[in-house]
Amino acid sequence: MIKSHPSEANLFQYVAGELSAGLSLVMATHVDMCSQCQAAVADIEETLCKQEFGSTEPLEALNCEQMMAAIFASSAPKSVVRTPVESMLSLEGKRFNLPNTLARNRDRIGPWSHMVGKLWRAPMQVSSDSSVNLIYMAQGATVPEHTHKGTEATLVVNGTFNDEHDSYHDGDFILLNEKHRHSPQTQQEDCLTLASLDAPLHFTSGISRLLNPFSSLFFR
Ligand SMILES: [Zn+2]
Repeated sequence: MIKSHPSEANLFQYVAGELSAGLSLVMATHVDMCSQCQAAVADIEETLCKQEFGSTEPLEALNCEQMMAAIFASSAPKSVVRTPVESMLSLEGKRFNLPNTLARNRDRIGPWSHMVGKLWRAPMQVSSDSSVNLIYMAQGATVPEHTHKGTEATLVVNGTFNDEHDSYHDGDFILLNEKHRHSPQTQQEDCLTLASLDAPLHFTSGISRLLNPFSSLFFR
């Protein structure tokens, strides 16, 4: 049971395309896993669709759902047989089932590297405005306490982790900004997460890396 969802404001921004590419990817993956947010996104799409076209067109002549379906259909490649995407990911002898959004973007997932302690990371090439990583925490792992210059979105893909505030399970979505400090940990269970950091320009400069060496583990 997912208990931690994006806010309604975030879902609006997501549908309207106002979020960074990294945050959008984390949100899309959450929506894959969450029927509640799938329903909310469908409602928002319809609301925005009516706002966009409702004032100049007679509403009864417009079926927003059909129009959205037509838009998506027109952008799909035609007469191409889709090859099934590989949805399993292997690490440390374990296999993880990837949600659709990650499976479709599988070719963006870079090689795994060992960070420190019981932490592994695989970068995802998404865009220059955000740094996106799959982070694997083995059992009994601790991420040193850190703050963020910007917005950090984390999604639990599989497993459980805890921080000072709560414990998070499959599908839980956590959004933190520079006001938050936290120290994620795993206990009996391991955890695969997808994490996106929006990158203010100064954050990637050499001096910031020296001041906050841990951040450079996530950023590159
Ligand atoms: Zn949700």
